[in-house]
Amino acid sequence: MMTKKVLITGASSGFGKDAVRLFQKNGWNVIASMRSPEKETELAGLDQVMLVRLDVTDSESIQHAVGEGVARFGGIDALVNNAGYGSLGVLEAAPEEVVRQQFDVNVFGVIEVIKAVLPHMRSNRSGVIVNVSSMGGRIAFPFSTLYHATKYAVEGISESLQYELEPLGIRVKIVEPGGYRTDFAGRSLATFGAGDLLDYMPAYDAFAAQVDNWPMSDRIWEVAEAIYQAANDHSQQLRYPVGADAVQLLQARKEMDDLAIKNLIAAHI
Ligand code: NAP
Repeated sequence: MMTKKVLITGASSGFGKDAVRLFQKNGWNVIASMRSPEKETELAGLDQVMLVRLDVTDSESIQHAVGEGVARFGGIDALVNNAGYGSLGVLEAAPEEVVRQQFDVNVFGVIEVIKAVLPHMRSNRSGVIVNVSSMGGRIAFPFSTLYHATKYAVEGISESLQYELEPLGIRVKIVEPGGYRTDFAGRSLATFGAGDLLDYMPAYDAFAAQVDNWPMSDRIWEVAEAIYQAANDHSQQLRYPVGADAVQLLQARKEMDDLAIKNLIAAHI
C-alpha cells in the first residue's frame, strides 16, 4: 500500500504539533506547515516529516507549501486545517484590523488552503479534509463574537462542502474541541477588551476576571486522536466533538431551545 500523506497547518504547537507526531507514528508522510519552520527543532528530526513555511494569510506561501509537499511525497491524501486563534472583547470596541485578521486566519485561510489542495485530491478521486472548528462553532459564549463568527463559518463551509466533494470521493470532517490548555488561551488569544466604552466595562471586567478560571483540559492528545480518527475512519460522520465539556454542551445545544441555552451559559459565566 502507498504511504499516505497529510498536510497540517499550524503545526508549531498545540493540537497541530500533536497531530504531526500521531500521523508520523502511524506511518504517514507529514507536511508539517507553520509560519516559522526555522524555529522548530523537535519535528525537524522526525522521519517522513517535512517542515514547510505556510502562513494561511499569505497566498504565495500556501501555493508554495502545497507544491513542495506534493513534489516531495507525490500527493496529499488528507488536509488538516488546524491553524487558528481566538479573540476576546466587546464587538463595538473591536478595531477593524482585529476583525479582519480574525476572519483572514480562521475563515479565509481555511478556504484558501482547501482550494490549493483540492486539485490534487480531485485528480486522485479521493481525500479527506479535517477542519478544526470548536465547540464554539455551535454554541456561543459572551465577549467572543469574532471567534464564534469564524468557527460558525468553518462549520457552515464544512457542512455545505461535503455535498460537492462527496461525488468526487473527498470527505469533509469537523473536529470540535472543548477547552484545552494549549497556547490558545495565551499567545493565541488576541484580547482587545472594552476599549474606552464605559457602558460595557462592569460586565466585561466581571467576565474577564473569571476567564482564567475556566476549566481547561491537559489531555491535548485527545484532539490529535480525534483528528486522526476523522481522517482514517472512512465513515460518513461529519462532526467529532472532543472533551467532556464539548460533548456535554453540544448535546445540550441539541436538546434545548435558544433561551434555555442562553440561561445555562449565563448561569456559568
Ligand atoms: P495553539 O497551540 O496556540 O496553536 C495555534 C496554531 O495556529 C499555532 O501553530 C499558530 O502558529 C497557528 N497560526 C496562527 N495564525 C496563523 C497563520 N496566520 N498562519 C498559519 N498558522 C497560524 O492553539 P491550539 O489550541 O492548538 O489551536 C489549534 C486550533 O484549535 C485553532 O484553530 C483553535 O481555534 C482550535 N481550538 C482550540 C481550543 C483550545 O481550547 N485550545 C478549543 C477549540 C478549538 P504560530 O506558532 O506561528 O503562532
